[in-house]
Amino acid sequence: DTPVLELVDLVAGYRSRQGPLGRSRAVRAVAGVNLAVRAGETVCLVGESGCGKSTVARAVVSLLRPIAGEVRFDGRDVTALDRAGRRDLRRQVQLVFQDPYASLNPKMTVHDLLSEAWRIHPGIVPRGDWDAEVAALLERVGLNPGHATRYPHQFSGGQRQRISIARALAVRPRLIVCDEPVSALDVSIQAQILNLLARLQRELGVAYLFITHDLGVVRHFADRVAVMHLGTIVESGQTEQVYERPAHPYTQALLSAAPSVDDWRAQEGEEIVLRGDVPSPLDPPSGCRFHTRCWKARDLCRAEEPALVRRDTDHPVACHFATDAHVVAADGH
Ligand code: SF4
Ligand code: MG
Repeated sequence: DTPVLELVDLVAGYRSRQGPLGRSRAVRAVAGVNLAVRAGETVCLVGESGCGKSTVARAVVSLLRPIAGEVRFDGRDVTALDRAGRRDLRRQVQLVFQDPYASLNPKMTVHDLLSEAWRIHPGIVPRGDWDAEVAALLERVGLNPGHATRYPHQFSGGQRQRISIARALAVRPRLIVCDEPVSALDVSIQAQILNLLARLQRELGVAYLFITHDLGVVRHFADRVAVMHLGTIVESGQTEQVYERPAHPYTQALLSAAPSVDDWRAQEGEEIVLRGDVPSPLDPPSGCRFHTRCWKARDLCRAEEPALVRRDTDHPVACHFATDAHVVAADGH
């Protein structure tokens, strides 16, 4: 079946000016990414800040035009859509941000925030049903339906994120891109929001592309995980594969540093501390883009970029010297 979302060799970025008089240069923050999200599935894109995750998000919701490659929705290249197709895409793909307060207009009531899109996309909810539909949405996300006349500042951070989620659901999307949706929240509230998202997926079949820097957060939430480093995906697979048998040194380092993830670390021991700074996407290292920080780097790594190679079922890894530990484990040892 055709994935809801498919990124095909996606290259995307922005222009950056170096110094006040510097010439502007194109930064390829996303340097050739392939990724698919199927209906009703949760795919997590994980990486450090600056790795290009948010640029992926912006390209997916058409805030950014790809430099090369394609963003496909239901198998169609979104840059080739006509006016009606683009409008439909804007409804079917919704974005939930890290900071709900910045994305919710403080001068609008919850009722106005949730019904705003019904003005833009007529035909979803008839005007006479708006009050009832707003109440139903609030109830669905665990908020008091009687609070529709309140303003965003009258809610807590977690409640505001529930409002953002309700607003995304109001137009009945097939895919919600969640860009660090729980990073600004307390740990106990994070779990509540993740549980809410999981329940909504079971009830509505909506798919998520969930973007986070925190592997610990998505351990029990993601169906599949893609690890992104400096504009490329270095490893992806079923959540179990990536957490229990991480094969790329960068994934291993991220996992060893995530305090709430211990299945792999319990086997392997020590936290891996990466040396040096994250290189700039303006001037990525030659060969393997991770070689300046990788403890396993050899000459080949500086000379040649490793391809994403499938190691076991649907578990591609981009490393010349990926560990084979999990292959042994798959044999029953
Ligand atoms: Fe490290 Fe080399 Fe593998 Fe890159 S290709 S992750 S530098 S071992
Ligand atoms: Mg970001």
